[in-house]
Amino acid sequence: MSSSAYRNGNHRTATRTYGSGFKPPSFKSRLQPSPSHGTGDVRRSSPASLGGAFKDSDGVPGRVRVAVRLRPRNSEEMVADADFADCVELQPEVKRLKLRKNNWDADTYEFDEVLTEYASQKRVYEVVAKPVVESVLDGYNGTVMAYGQTGTGKTFTLGRLGDEDTADRGIMVRAMEDIFADVDLGSDSITVSYLQIYMETIQDLLDPINDNISIVEDPKTGDVSLPGATLVDIRDQQSFLELLRLGEAHRIAANTKLNTESSRSHALLMVHVKRSVAGEDAFSTENGNTSHLVKPSRPLVRKSKLVVVDLAGSERIHKSGIEGHTLEEAKSINLSLSALGKCINALAENSAHVPVRDSKLTRLLKDSFGGTARTSLIVTIGPSPRHRGETSSTILFGQRAMKVENMLKIKEEFDYKSLSRKLEIQLDKLIAENERLQKSFEDEIDRINAESQSRILEVERNFAEALEKEKLKCQMEYMKSVKELEEKMVSNQTRNQRDDLVDVKHISEGIGASVSSEVSELRMLLNNEIARRKAAEDEINLLESQLAQYRHPEADGDTAIFRLQKNLEEEIRQKKKYEEEVLVLRSQLVQMNIEADQTRRCLERGESGDAFTLNMLMAQSRNMQLRENGNGQKPSIAALSEQVGLHKIMSLLESEDATVRIHAVKVVANLAAEEVNQAKIVEAGGLTSLLMLLRRYEDETVRRVAAGAIANLAMNEVNQELIMVQGGIGLLSVTAANAEDPQTLRMVAGAIANLCGNDKLQMKLRTEGGIKALLGTVRCGHPDVLSQVARGIANFAKCESRLASQGIRSGRSLLIEDGALPWIVHNANDESAPIRRHIELALCHLAQHEVNAKDMVSGGALWELVRISRDCTREDIRNLARKTLSSSPTFRAELRRLRVDY
Ligand code: ADP
Ligand code: MG
Repeated sequence: MSSSAYRNGNHRTATRTYGSGFKPPSFKSRLQPSPSHGTGDVRRSSPASLGGAFKDSDGVPGRVRVAVRLRPRNSEEMVADADFADCVELQPEVKRLKLRKNNWDADTYEFDEVLTEYASQKRVYEVVAKPVVESVLDGYNGTVMAYGQTGTGKTFTLGRLGDEDTADRGIMVRAMEDIFADVDLGSDSITVSYLQIYMETIQDLLDPINDNISIVEDPKTGDVSLPGATLVDIRDQQSFLELLRLGEAHRIAANTKLNTESSRSHALLMVHVKRSVAGEDAFSTENGNTSHLVKPSRPLVRKSKLVVVDLAGSERIHKSGIEGHTLEEAKSINLSLSALGKCINALAENSAHVPVRDSKLTRLLKDSFGGTARTSLIVTIGPSPRHRGETSSTILFGQRAMKVENMLKIKEEFDYKSLSRKLEIQLDKLIAENERLQKSFEDEIDRINAESQSRILEVERNFAEALEKEKLKCQMEYMKSVKELEEKMVSNQTRNQRDDLVDVKHISEGIGASVSSEVSELRMLLNNEIARRKAAEDEINLLESQLAQYRHPEADGDTAIFRLQKNLEEEIRQKKKYEEEVLVLRSQLVQMNIEADQTRRCLERGESGDAFTLNMLMAQSRNMQLRENGNGQKPSIAALSEQVGLHKIMSLLESEDATVRIHAVKVVANLAAEEVNQAKIVEAGGLTSLLMLLRRYEDETVRRVAAGAIANLAMNEVNQELIMVQGGIGLLSVTAANAEDPQTLRMVAGAIANLCGNDKLQMKLRTEGGIKALLGTVRCGHPDVLSQVARGIANFAKCESRLASQGIRSGRSLLIEDGALPWIVHNANDESAPIRRHIELALCHLAQHEVNAKDMVSGGALWELVRISRDCTREDIRNLARKTLSSSPTFRAELRRLRVDY
């Protein structure tokens, strides 16, 4: 920019340093809306501001821009000034204006823009107002003001609506078009007030009743506002145009009423632009990290104001020829304008005092000159040399205004309302989110709780099961060890006893020989003594009887008679006996004759008697068995009897010939195996004969077979009683005691076992040593024998139980009395199922009676019962054991004592 010293050209701009983004010489420059400009932006001087309150340097220097616009000659001038040249000559390319003083002299002025009479409204807007509008949109205050003589085109420049010709649209219309194009009506707002100042009164052009609006000044900031002015929210261009029309109409009406012209009043259009801008993140931390929250951007609101001022005509009063007003009124009319001139002078000259408060206008334009607003002034001039003076003063006003330095500041403040609203929304969102999270958290907690509960339950269940198993195992082991200990104790006792016996036996063996000889000697002596004593007694008796005879001679006859009678009786008895014997012998003779005949016949056929008969019988028996197997015919003892005679068979049992006896007994045993034969055999005296065999014969085979036959016969209840009556128990016991062959023992045990099942014979069986005999058979250890013993015990226990429950018998079991319990307990868990089953049953029967409980506990039977109740494969036995255990107080007490849960 040239710094040549034109007249009045105070080119402060020429020496100025501008910051980046700032292009001071041009109206087109647009400020960067950064509040923190400052690098290199040194404010050279600090001219007093119109407001005076602006002191800080947080702004951008911005001199008041001044353009000059020349109105084309109007029709009147065309005529009146036809012979004269214009008083001004414009040099727009160098932005200079020459004001002719006369034909040969002119003053040259430099302006920021020089707009010729040909300048279009569009161009005028773009060079004068557009940069200000853009600043306003960026958040700065802006002022566009037209100054000039009445009729030079101020209103034309600013307020033309362009109704007829769009190209005529003035700055107000075009400014609002640009504003609407830039703002977002969703978030931004535009409000407009339209006022006029006339005779120091502020009138509302949008509401004429409101004709005395007062200026309010913020004591802190010094900002002025017009709270009484109507503010119209403008949403579109059309409403704005209507608003301008309305304002203009009101202006005309008001001026008519006041008897003035519009040129006497100042019109001020105030456009308030409020824009929301996203500020810095209010929640950022120092190092730039942001929290996890969704943060609202810092809501900033930029409030800016565009003031378009259409000043009253600048001509002097006297010249304008005001009518109907006093001088005082005239002074008042132009007070604001002269005050503005004074302020601008003061600002231009950096005066200490700027008389802002002198007028309403200067108070309202406080920010526009020397304040924070971006200000453009357009001075309008006419071409007529007749108004050269006014034109000159207008030019000088413009020149002075060019010296006014503003410090542009963005008006940015927090939009607390919107921030609060946003925060509220965000808070609500967060509350809802929090509630959702809380809910899901609680649900999760509940779910975890439920899961843990079920896990705990499962673990507890598993634990309880494991514990139960472990407990059971321990109990079993405990019971087992107790049992073992008890067994050990019993065996120890037994061994001790045996040891004692062995000791005794050893001693006796050692002295056996001498003792026996002594015994025989003693026996002899004893016999001698007895004989002698008997002789002495006989002698005494004899002497006594002789003495009696001597003492009582008369009793002799009676005694002899008595003796004779005795003898007679004896003789009679003897006779009877002999007669019987004779009878027997006779029958035997007959029998023998028959036998002799048979023998003879047999001999004639070359075979021996008994053996032949026997063989024949056996053959027949076998044949019959074969037949039975072959054609189902039952063998019949009748058939045999018919052929041989059952009595004959029975008699063979007593044959002298051992072989015959053996065969005979086998035949009988064979026959006795058939139930149908049993009664007949007994009837024929077979049972007696068999018992006799047991009694008489040493031969083990005979005894075995006989015992077998007896066992078979003993299946029948009647026979059982017969066996008992005939001393069978004793015989079987003796046999049991003597036998060595396990099969013999098995037969004997089987026979006794059968007898054990008879209720009526219980006592007798026991008294005659049956139980002991049965138990004695176990010595051979053969499982068959043990099985029979177990069966016998079970039978016996069952009978006892039955009798006890019928109330027929009471008291301890005879089995226990006879010492069967140790064996029972010992074999209760025998590998052989039949043995185990019989014993388990026997134990259950015994346990049913409380009277046995104590012995069973001490005998270790309780453990077996517990085992049976748990392990037995037969459910009925298991249940019986369980029932017994739980019903017996003794058992329960013992189990409690041993801490075994049952
Ligand atoms: P002011 O407001 O300064 O008193 P106006 O704007 O009313 O002056 O203008 C006075 C007359 O001059 C109006 O008729 C207007 O149309 C006309 N006029 C002003 N400036 C121009 C211009 N640049 N071009 C054409 N006519 C103009
Ligand atoms: Mg006007």
